[in-house]
Amino acid sequence: MNKPVTLIISVFTMVFSLANAQKNTTSSDKCYIYLTFDDGPLNGSENINTIILQEKIKISVFMVGEHVIKDKQMDTYAKYYDENPYIDEYNHSFSHANNHYESFYSNVDKSVNDIVYNQSLLKLLYKIVRLPGRNMWRLGEKSKNDGASGIQTADQLAKLGYKVVGWDIEWQHRPSDGTPIQSVDEMYNSVKNLCSSDKTFTKNNVVMLIHDEMFQKTWEESELKQLIDLLRPDSHYIFEQMKFYPQ
Ligand SMILES: [Zn+2]
Repeated sequence: MNKPVTLIISVFTMVFSLANAQKNTTSSDKCYIYLTFDDGPLNGSENINTIILQEKIKISVFMVGEHVIKDKQMDTYAKYYDENPYIDEYNHSFSHANNHYESFYSNVDKSVNDIVYNQSLLKLLYKIVRLPGRNMWRLGEKSKNDGASGIQTADQLAKLGYKVVGWDIEWQHRPSDGTPIQSVDEMYNSVKNLCSSDKTFTKNNVVMLIHDEMFQKTWEESELKQLIDLLRPDSHYIFEQMKFYPQ
């Protein structure tokens, strides 16, 4: 082969492999963040709806049917969620186990029926469920349990075609006054570290459990806004809804 042709080929190969390397770095470089809110609708859901419309950030809410049918106000909040294009609604059971988890999960059929009933009552579009009081996962071949109680319920739901999802990190609050336990910087650093670690259920995907207390303060003063403002300018982080969670 003559020299100029060899040169052209090697330059071409170099450019091609560079372009490929670039592509690979970009795709594995992204980190998907799922902001998830449990137990709604509750007082404060109206604020969540307004803020999300204004901020245009995709979030996921895990709904409790018993709260929806409690009164007209809550039904209205649920309708706001239905109409909000940035909010996706998923299943968090009808009764929330009446907060007696051990006894709820000891009767597998009863707990499964409670969740299946919630699915039809709320006409939920996706078979995605978070078990009340449990951080359990069933996604394809992958699964995770946080204890023994609830395992059979999760398995049964998976058989019925449900994706059972938990969370990777929880932003905790003091029950007394709702102030967050982890500071904004702590949360920011945790998310950053989780994004590049093997500690999440799926690599490069961070599911965050957030509580409604975040919406007690005005939005401008809230810690959640501060965290979002830190993450959003960095194109490395992408806010996504649970229906897009990989499996
Ligand atoms: Zn809950």
